[in-house]
Amino acid sequence: MSRNVTEHTEHHDQSAVTVLGLGPMGRSLAGAFLDAGLRVTVWNRTPGRDRELVARGAVSARSAEEAVVASGLTVVCVVNYDAVDAILRREAVTDALKGSTVVNLTADTPDRARDAAAWATEHGVRYLDGAIMTPVTTIGTPAAVFLHSGPEDLYREHQPVLQALGGTHTHLGDDIGRAAAYDIALLDIFWTAMAGYAHALAVARAEGISARQLAPFAKGIGDILPPLFEELAEEVDNGTFSGEDNPLTSAASSMAHIVHTSEAHGIDAGVMRAAEGLARRAIGQGYGADGFLRIAELLGGRQ
Ligand code: NDP
Repeated sequence: MSRNVTEHTEHHDQSAVTVLGLGPMGRSLAGAFLDAGLRVTVWNRTPGRDRELVARGAVSARSAEEAVVASGLTVVCVVNYDAVDAILRREAVTDALKGSTVVNLTADTPDRARDAAAWATEHGVRYLDGAIMTPVTTIGTPAAVFLHSGPEDLYREHQPVLQALGGTHTHLGDDIGRAAAYDIALLDIFWTAMAGYAHALAVARAEGISARQLAPFAKGIGDILPPLFEELAEEVDNGTFSGEDNPLTSAASSMAHIVHTSEAHGIDAGVMRAAEGLARRAIGQGYGADGFLRIAELLGGRQ
């Protein structure tokens, strides 16, 4: 059941979209497309996850190949690119996709995005890569954040349909790996911060402080970060790391207190030890008066 290239490219149908993958995110994406009045075809490896969407008007496809021929635009959102490959690189699906567009909103690495694009080019599939930077609850609302990369004209062509997902959409350029690269950097911030928060909760609990008691102050600490991202960006890009207000020597001492308190309670301090170790290395190289972000140079092997 495959549709030929001309049929796909001549249509430019902006009223239909196929969603492959109906985990929490795929279901939210499909729901937002339905809310926008689009003709939505859905498919998921495990059947039955589309019940609510079908009740709201989605068409349930019996196979991935049947799903992709229903629309000129297919949005894929599954756990990782191994799963994407398992779906798209079956001959019947690849044939059915010829001439149509895939927007892959699955998270993975920049290299996997580039590999997917090479596969798409080889098989006559038009390909855009993307990343979703906000939770499922934001989809279809102004709070959603989407990053896109790949050929700009292709992005512009499908932008009206993608806008149905709400929020802000940023095209980061033709390099197909760009969205995944931003995703990795941003998730690095998120997961490192969450690891720090989990560790802080363990230390706080050991000291008899509940998560609820800590919360308002934890929020205060979190609020310090966004202005720093803005203020320090210029310095970092210029390779200067002013430590006037908070030099590395002071930061390392603060981190050592966390390590000692954790270990006194028998709590693993490995993550903080690693950060303190980097700070001490930079101090050893003569950068003690610099700011903490000097360690980014160290990590990048630039010193
Ligand atoms: P998951 O990351 O758990 O992905 C679940 C989906 O992947 C299901 O449709 C599942 O199918 C499918 N899948 C897994 N393995 C395979 C396979 N081998 N072959 C075919 N399909 C497979 O849930 P989400 O929906 O939450 O996430 C989807 C993507 O969105 C991920 O890349 C995630 O990082 C990203 N994302 C999610 C956010 C969120 O808040 N949830 C926020 C931002 C990004 P089945 O039902 O058959 O198991």
